[in-house]
Amino acid sequence: MPGDMIERFCPACKQLTMWCRRGYPNHVMHAILSIMTVGFWLPVWLIVTIQAGYRCGRCEATTASSAIRTILIIILVLLILGIVSSLCGPHTPRR
Ligand SMILES: [Zn+2]
Repeated sequence: MPGDMIERFCPACKQLTMWCRRGYPNHVMHAILSIMTVGFWLPVWLIVTIQAGYRCGRCEATTASSAIRTILIIILVLLILGIVSSLCGPHTPRR
């Protein structure tokens, strides 16, 4: 399946080049899987997202902005996991 093509400036090639998107990860599905596996799915999500970003058609450079956005989403999921585990985790017995 061909990805989206956009024209943008490539810092490595130092000129306007055609950039191609490699797939489109389902972030909602990966977030649910990460919560269900208590975070064990996060490395898979990270790898899938890094590989799915826009790449320069000439030099295969990737965009940094998509990686930063993914890291922010993963931090958000980790915060949700922390809140859920504090609500549903084992409670210390009271005396
Ligand atoms: Zn390039």
